[in-house]
Amino acid sequence: MKAPYGGSFEAPDGSEHLLGSMQRIDFPMRRRPVTEEVDYVIVGVGSAGGVLLQRLARAGFRVLGIEAGPFWDTERDWVSDEAGSHQLYWEDLRITGGTDPLALGANNSGKGVGGGSVHWAAFTPRFHPSDFEVYTRDGVGADWPISYSDLKPYYELLEREMPVAGPAYYPWGDPHGYPFGPHPMGGVGNTLIDGCSKLGIRVSAGGPVAILSGSRADRPHCIYRGFCIQGCKVGAKASTLITHVPDAIARGAEIRDRCMVSRIEYDRKTNRVTGVSYIDREGREHFQRAKSVIVSGYAIETPRLLLNSACDGYEQGLANSSGVLGRYLMAQAGSVILGRFENLVRMYKAPPAHALTEEFYETDPRRDFARGFAVQTVATLPIAFGKQMMAARGNWGWGLRRVMMDYNHWSAFGLLGEILPWADNRVTLAKEKDQFGLPVAHVTFSLHDNDRKLMRFGTRKTEEIMRAAGAQEVVHEARYAHLVGGARMGSDPASSVVDAFGRSHDIANLFVCDGSILPTQGSANPGLTIQALAARTGDYLIRQGNRIFTSNDRDSIAPPVRHDLSPPDTFTGGVPHYSGATASR
Ligand SMILES: Cc1cc2nc3c(=O)[nH]c(=O)nc-3n(C[C@H](O)[C@H](O)[C@H](O)COP(=O)(O)OP(=O)(O)OC[C@H]3O[C@@H](n4cnc5c(N)ncnc54)[C@H](O)[C@@H]3O)c2cc1C
Ligand code: SF4
Repeated sequence: MKAPYGGSFEAPDGSEHLLGSMQRIDFPMRRRPVTEEVDYVIVGVGSAGGVLLQRLARAGFRVLGIEAGPFWDTERDWVSDEAGSHQLYWEDLRITGGTDPLALGANNSGKGVGGGSVHWAAFTPRFHPSDFEVYTRDGVGADWPISYSDLKPYYELLEREMPVAGPAYYPWGDPHGYPFGPHPMGGVGNTLIDGCSKLGIRVSAGGPVAILSGSRADRPHCIYRGFCIQGCKVGAKASTLITHVPDAIARGAEIRDRCMVSRIEYDRKTNRVTGVSYIDREGREHFQRAKSVIVSGYAIETPRLLLNSACDGYEQGLANSSGVLGRYLMAQAGSVILGRFENLVRMYKAPPAHALTEEFYETDPRRDFARGFAVQTVATLPIAFGKQMMAARGNWGWGLRRVMMDYNHWSAFGLLGEILPWADNRVTLAKEKDQFGLPVAHVTFSLHDNDRKLMRFGTRKTEEIMRAAGAQEVVHEARYAHLVGGARMGSDPASSVVDAFGRSHDIANLFVCDGSILPTQGSANPGLTIQALAARTGDYLIRQGNRIFTSNDRDSIAPPVRHDLSPPDTFTGGVPHYSGATASR
């Protein structure tokens, strides 16, 4: 499918997309007339949208992805430079509020084909079985309408499709092993392992992370240059831009990039959506007809688009008869704990994501709060390090220069703590408008008692690990990570927006497929779960076939898992060492 690119670089013409320094799609993308109706239009080709686009294209549907950002040419557009990579992020206007306002911008969603999977660190732990029944077990948060066992086959599938490198035996949640061997340790990983080992805390070394530890097919292995969050120019880190989108395009999917969907159109007579309006890169407005619409725009932009699509029949937001749309938005506690070591650490010399512990993940009755947290490597680059030192120590001027010159002696861990879903943490529409004249998102976020207790305890524990590793000085910067929720799934239409397959309770041919459907967030990074859910929604849509397009009837029968829809090379190449059987305790 792809030909080696041979090293030299020529700018591509409009029908070509280079995908990594050594790869390109050597066939043109299908272009349909704007007047042609498609089966599915997907709003946003990010983590979830990229997987779903590929599944639906493979199954033979006429599928179109409309993406607000560019179709990245990784060779031309990406730079190995911390300051030069801000174009990857959604930095359009958003308003933040609440008693603990979230920083919006670089630390949230992506903008461009691949979405947030382009700049994610690619940590890929699974959610634990307990995450799917938080309310039943702990009396807080919510239960999911599905269980861990419903998602497990999709975890296994996506771990091969990305693929994920990690230990042969991963002890937490549902113990399992990984299809690719773990990565060698860098300086930060070594400090986490030292600290945990001294305290008797189990720690996972070298993953799970969706970065190649050995080359596979036409993708090279990691070269440990540390620019994962800037978009991996090498092609070793998985993003849907390189894992799923090429196969989608080969199977006839179309992507219209730099096109902003402004509204989902609705017909009250049939109670069905009819397509989307969007503004193209030249500022022209179009209406794209579709038999079904899938919104995959991220935890902020998905509720925003549905709220902006309010109409006769759904005056408080499309598919929002419950009033829940925009509510139960979550962010994980993501404080960074930095420690200075006598010896050189050189934290840039490895992927930021390469070691973690989930030893504190589950509710522990000896603690005064429900749920738990993980501790992970984060390994910031110099500019981010400088900002962290300003926040953590108040360094400025000459003091900041001095600490930045000392960068190679510092290590950084991240706390990843489960903040519970609260109805008052939400996305609403602001009075301010964006460059298209559309009301922007207003994000309200406030911590509750359980969240504060969890953050205090988790920060202390992470500091303890850093000190046990031998750090002479330990400081921390409070922050948050990974927004999810806002259009949550559930069995009860009165308290959720979509059902167990992402189908709107209100409108039978409208779906949501992204992180916004998560009812709770655990303390695992959400990307693998988001992509696994997308593959499951894909199987459901394929099993439903034309019924989605012709009928408002619905069934909730789980479809068979379609292993035959994976991108090429999923089950070949590389150095897999895991046979598929679940390891026992
Ligand atoms: C710095 C950083 C590091 C991270 N590291 C990890 C990690 O290690 N592991 C992990 O699991 N997760 C990580 N994440 C989180 C992860 O990237 C996100 O959870 C995930 O990408 C969200 O997927 P999504 O499909 O919901 O949205 P996205 O992947 O953000 O996709 C949404 C897409 O929709 C497009 N869009 C939105 N609105 C419109 C519109 N109206 N019209 C057209 N297009 C639109 C956007 O441009 C975007 O491309 C990280 C995030 C950040 C910021
Ligand atoms: S460290 Fe590895 S995965 Fe990260 S940017 Fe470098 S080559 Fe890519």
